[in-house]
Amino acid sequence: GELTFTVTKNLAAKNPAQREEILQKPGFGVHFTDHMVDICWSENGGWHRPRVQPYGPITLDPAAAVLHYGQEIFEGIKAYRHADGSVHTFRPDRNAARLQRSARRLALPELPTEYFLQSLRELIALDGDWVPSGEDQSLYLRPFMFAKEAFLGVRPAKKVAYYLIASPAGAYFSGGVKPVRIWLSENYARAGKGGTGAAKTGGNYASSLLPQAEAYDKGCDQVVFLDQHRNVEELGGMNVVFVFKDGRVVTPASESILEGITRDSLLQLAEDRGLTVERRPVSLDEWRQGVASGDIVEVFACGTAAVVTPIGALVGEGFEDEQPIGELALSLREELTDIQYGRREDKHGWLLRL
Ligand code: PMP
Repeated sequence: GELTFTVTKNLAAKNPAQREEILQKPGFGVHFTDHMVDICWSENGGWHRPRVQPYGPITLDPAAAVLHYGQEIFEGIKAYRHADGSVHTFRPDRNAARLQRSARRLALPELPTEYFLQSLRELIALDGDWVPSGEDQSLYLRPFMFAKEAFLGVRPAKKVAYYLIASPAGAYFSGGVKPVRIWLSENYARAGKGGTGAAKTGGNYASSLLPQAEAYDKGCDQVVFLDQHRNVEELGGMNVVFVFKDGRVVTPASESILEGITRDSLLQLAEDRGLTVERRPVSLDEWRQGVASGDIVEVFACGTAAVVTPIGALVGEGFEDEQPIGELALSLREELTDIQYGRREDKHGWLLRL
């Protein structure tokens, strides 16, 4: 069934001129729209009190479990404005399903897909004008859920909140997409077998901050993590894809990485072009040897925020491997963004008009 949201309009909403000024140069994750959505959950009452209300601080008991034990999950998805003015999201059912998988791992309640989609529609209904129309701009949607019960015992919270906020996003790369330098993290792991690597939960990102600082120290932009067998996992916030000379497109299969929706979509587009896609473990040795021998002709990272980023160098303790730059990454990037922005036919039915 559908939820009936109580809508409280923001009387202090930004005026069109203020909004347009922000949309001229939105940056990423610094400005927020006028409203937010929240839905409560309790063990006895299930999902209830769906609301759209003015964006602003939320009150939380200092004993709220999320502040102590990190019982929290989130998603990241974009809304795109098409040339005819309409607003679309990309494969939101996938984000809804991933939020449900994250919820299971973190012992949080699963938000039904219909409620998830409805929350997106409710927010865009009020804040649709915040979807920018400039090139490569979008409205970044951030759904999240956390344990709000005030209780210091370690067990799943009986009171939980789901929220949706939105933040206008500019072109990720000003001055064009440029290859990034990747630091190979040997001192830190992102996830382990049986851990929370496949869930989109705050703790995974908290634990990536120190290795990320190490990467900056080493003159790199991002970190790549390995598993305990020295197989390649992913970057802090993006998946990795290898392109081989013979046309195979290979990406790590692992139970401890986040299954990216961007990656899945790019691999589908690669398959549509007749390329062979392999999802299997990729060892660090295979990567380094493949680049050295010329078997690997391209390596790129992908995710919602930056879409596709070629990897220009792999840097580790005592080595620096320059990476070959090819054409597939940017050509798949263009095809995907053409679909997202309505410039190309949506053959797979990936777009949902909000
Ligand atoms: N891995 C991690 C750890 C991430 O945080 C993200 C971003 N959600 C991704 C991969 C890419 O996922 P998606 O393509 O769905 O954004």
